[in-house]
This record gives sequence, C-alpha cells and structure tokens, in this order.
Amino acid sequence: MIDLNGKRALVTGGSRGIGAAIALALAENGADVAFTYQYSAEKAEAVAKSIEKAGRRAVAIQADSADPEAISRSVSEAVSTLGGLDILVNSAAIGHTGMIADLDVHAYQAVMDINVRAPVLFAKAVIPHLTGGGCIITIGSALGERVPFPGITTYAMSKAALTSFTRGLSRELGPSGITVNLVQPGATNTDANPADGEAADFQRSLTSLGRYAEPHEIANAVVFLASPAASVITGATLTVDGGALA
Ligand code: NDP
Repeated sequence: MIDLNGKRALVTGGSRGIGAAIALALAENGADVAFTYQYSAEKAEAVAKSIEKAGRRAVAIQADSADPEAISRSVSEAVSTLGGLDILVNSAAIGHTGMIADLDVHAYQAVMDINVRAPVLFAKAVIPHLTGGGCIITIGSALGERVPFPGITTYAMSKAALTSFTRGLSRELGPSGITVNLVQPGATNTDANPADGEAADFQRSLTSLGRYAEPHEIANAVVFLASPAASVITGATLTVDGGALA
C-alpha cells in the first residue's frame, strides 16, 4: 500500500495522456496535485474534478513549457495554493518527426525548449521548495536509448538528454535527501501515439509483450518512485516499455 498522504505534487502536461494518468494516480494515493497544461482547458478541468473526487486538492495551471516566465509562475502558483511542494513530475513534451536533411530550425528549437529546457527550469524553480526532501521524476522515452526507425532523431535526442539530466541532478540533490529519477515509457496509448494509429502494429511488434501500455501503467511506475518504497533509488532510469528495449 503506497501512502502519499500529505504530499504535494506538481505534474507538467497533466491535461491528457500519461501526465493526466500520473496526476490522478498521485491523488488516488493521497497527494494533492497541481498540474500544467497548454491548450486543453476543458480536459484540464475534468482532470481536476477527478482529483477532487478522489478527495484531494487540485490546481490546473495554464502555462506554456516553452516560456521560462510561465514556468516560474506555475511553480509559484502551485506552491502558494498547495502550501509547498514535495514531488515534481516533468511529463509535458512534444513529438517531432522528419529527417535531419529537411530540418526546420524553429521546430528543432521548440523540441529542445519544451522537452529538455523546461524540465531543467522546472527543477530549478522547484528545488528551493523541496525543503523536506522530496523527488523529481522526469518522463523520458525508450526512444532516448534506442532509435528503431528513421525520422525521430530530434525527439530521441531530446529524450536522451534527460538521462544525463537525471544522473547529474541526483548527484546535486542527494545530500539534501531529494531523489531524481527517469521513467522511460515505450509505446503508450495516448493522443500522441494512439494504439490504433498508422505505425501502431510496427511499434507493438518491437515489444516482448506484443502490446501498447495504457497511461495508468506508466503512472504506476511514477507513483512507486514517488513513494517511500523507492527511498534509496536515485539517478536511475526505469524503462516501462513492454520489453521494447529487451
Ligand atoms: P500527449 O500529447 O497525449 O499529452 C501531452 C501533454 O503535455 C498534454 O497535457 C499537453 O497539454 C501537454 N503539453 C504539451 N506541450 C506543452 C507545452 N508547451 N506547455 C505545457 N503543456 C504542454 O502526450 P503523452 O501523454 O503521449 O506523453 C506524455 C509524456 O510521455 C511525454 O514526455 C512523452 O514524450 C512521453 N512518452 C510518450 C510515449 C507514448 O507512446 N505516448 C512513449 C514514450 C514517452 P494540452 O492538452 O494543453 O495540449
């Protein structure tokens, strides 16, 4: 039984998909949850209602992860509304497909700003508030470790950077009793990668289990890493990919 009672979490990209499942799972295990979103105000409201239905406080914050000021503002709002923070989950990210030979520099920059710079800036803003220990969990991707087809190089690069971010930050924050870990999903059934999408059968064929994950199966790994059961796990990568990297 995992007990996150009294913990306060901030999840980026919590309006849909894996981030929404994480926000809800943290609440179901006892945490109050603030989360950011970019466009999906109605979906964010529905996630907040589900969190409240689980008996926890919910705060939905519109904040573009590409904007450093929005990042600072969202951390301040989460801290002031929840009375502090114990858990940061960096989940918001964007995909990008296309060959390097055809690369648009603005699209490249957006991937790096949202997928790499934002987790770094969220951590920077949250660290001063993790006064009682706590944890930082970032959602990477199995594609950060293995690139099984062409056209996803920039996305894979952005996710690979999160491994060193996690390892380095665990060294910086270990003395303060803060753990820092990376969860690497494989193909997971969300708007970004629907299980009935064009490339779904191919992605399924890469896995040992022969199937996609559902968002709550990724959230289970995050809840574990946020819990006392994972107290000595830091600087680690937990791959949750149905065996795609096996
Ligand atoms: P979705 O596209 O389904 O959801 C993305 C979420 O991030 C939404 O809540 C969206 O908000 C938010 N978001 C996107 N861009 C921004 C931004 N600039 N500022 C603030 N919020 C933003 O993604 P998934 O649930 O599939 O992915 C979640 C995480 O899991 C990502 O890190 C992704 O890379 C990773 N992942 C996913 C896999 C998969 O197969 N699905 C596989 C491996 C890793 P809004 O609703 O407002 O647009």
